[in-house]
Amino acid sequence: MLLNRITQSVTRSIEDTIEGIGEALFDPVIRLGVTGLSRAGKTVFITSLVANMLDRGRMPQLKAVSDGRIRSTFLQPHPDHTVPRFAFEDHMAALTAPEPHWPESTRSISTLRLSLKVRPSGLLTGLGGQRTIHLDIIDYPGEWLLDLPLMSQSYEQWSAAALEAARAPSRASQAESWLARLEDCDPAAKLDERTATELAEAFTAYLAASRAAGLSSMAPGRFLMPGDMEGTPALTFAPLPKPAKPGSGSLWRTFESRFESYKRVVVEPFFRNHFAKFDRQIVLIDALGAISDGPPAVEDLRTAMAEILACFRPGQNSWLAPILGRRVDRILFAATKADHLHHTQHARLAAITEALVKDARDRANFRGAKTGALAIASLRATVEQTIERNGRQIDLVRGRLSDNGEDGALFPGNLPENPSHILSPARHGSTEWEGAAYNITRFAPPKLDLRPGEAPPHIRLDRAMEFLIGDKLA
Ligand code: GDP
Repeated sequence: MLLNRITQSVTRSIEDTIEGIGEALFDPVIRLGVTGLSRAGKTVFITSLVANMLDRGRMPQLKAVSDGRIRSTFLQPHPDHTVPRFAFEDHMAALTAPEPHWPESTRSISTLRLSLKVRPSGLLTGLGGQRTIHLDIIDYPGEWLLDLPLMSQSYEQWSAAALEAARAPSRASQAESWLARLEDCDPAAKLDERTATELAEAFTAYLAASRAAGLSSMAPGRFLMPGDMEGTPALTFAPLPKPAKPGSGSLWRTFESRFESYKRVVVEPFFRNHFAKFDRQIVLIDALGAISDGPPAVEDLRTAMAEILACFRPGQNSWLAPILGRRVDRILFAATKADHLHHTQHARLAAITEALVKDARDRANFRGAKTGALAIASLRATVEQTIERNGRQIDLVRGRLSDNGEDGALFPGNLPENPSHILSPARHGSTEWEGAAYNITRFAPPKLDLRPGEAPPHIRLDRAMEFLIGDKLA
C-alpha cells in the first residue's frame, strides 16, 4: 500500500517534470531586444509596455488584443538566472506615486519574461485550446553596440582614431583637459597605476562631456555605461599615441593589453550570449532631443545609429557573422517622446527618424529584415491645446513642467515636412538651425489616476507591438 503510494507519487513527479520540460521546450519564446542610447527612453518604454500588456484596455491596435485572443498575461521569473531582472515594479511605483517621477534609467542589461495565453486565430479558432507564448524583453544600453567596431581594431588603430576625433574643433572644449593630461605623460614610461587611472578618468570625463553636449557616438560603450564593470582594470585604459619602441611593462603596452581584455571579457560575451539570440529588436531614438540640441547633435546621432545598426548586418568576414545564429527579422525604429509634439507633427517626426536611419535601414532590408519607423510616446505626459493668436491657430502641448512641477503650455516648434531640411544642414556642418527654433522642454510624468485594470496612457505602443510581435500571436 505504502509502496504503491510511493510509486504513484514518483510516477506523478516524473510526469510533472516531463510536463514542465515539455512546456519549457515547446512554448514559443520571442526574444525582444530593447535598445537605444542613454536617455532614449528604454526604461519608460518597457515599464509602460509591460503595464499595458498586463491591462490591455489601451492596446486596440495590437490585433490579438482587439480580436480578444489574448486570454491572460502574467510575469514569470526569467529562466536565465545570470541576468538581473528588469525592476518593473519599482519603475511602475515611481510613475504612479502621488508625486510621480521618472524611473531610474537603464545602466546595464536586464530582462523580464511576460507570458501570454493566446487563443489561435482564423480556422484554428474553433479548435479551442490556447498556447502560451513567452515574450522575453531584454533591455540593454545602445552604447554597448558601439563597441562592435573595436573587435576588428588594434589598440594602436583605435587610439589613433580616438585622438583624431578628440582634436576636431567641435570637440575642443570637451577634450581640452584630457588632452592636456595626455601631454604630461610619457606612454613609453613604466606603468604607474595612478597615471593610468587619471588618464582613464580624464578620458571618461571627456566622453561624458561630449555626451552631455548631445554627441552620441562614444566608444568604448562601457566607459559611460559600465554596468558591473566599474573601476575594473578592463576599463582602466585610454587612447595613447604610440611611442617608437614601447617596452613591455610600459604604459602603452599595459593599455594595449587592457584594451584586448576589454574586447575579450566585455564586448565578445555580450554579443555572443545576448545579442546573437534576439528575434526582434526595437531601437529607441530621441530624435527630438537631438533636434533641440542642434545640427551637430543630429549628425552625431545619425553616425551613432549607423554604427549601431551595422551590428545587425555584419559583413561576411566580420567576427560577429558566424555567431549570429538567429537573425533578427524585424527591427522597429521608434522616435520616442512624441507627446512633446502636437499629433499633427507625429508623421513628420517619424519621417525624420526614417531618414536618419535610412542608409543603415536599406542595408538591413537588403538582408531580409522587415523594418519600420514610428513616432511613439511610452508614457503620454501632455495633452494638446490649440489657441488662437492674431487670427492664427497655434498647436500647443500642455503638461507638468519638469523644472518646477507646474502646469505649462508650450509651442515646441514646427518640424519641417521634408526631413532633409533637418538632415542636410546637420550633415553639412551647420551649427544652428536656420529660420527655425525647437523648444523641447522636459515634462514631468503626469499624475495618473488609474482605475483597477487601467494602464498608463501612451501613443502608438500598440502599433509598435503589432509590428514587432503581431505575426507571432496569430
Ligand atoms: P533610458 O536611459 O533609455 O532608460 O531612458 P529613460 O526611459 O530613463 O528615459 C529618459 C528620460 O526621457 C525620462 O526620464 C523622461 O524624462 C523622458 N521620457 C522617456 N519616455 C518619455 C515619454 O514617453 N514621454 C515623455 N514626455 N518623456 C519621456
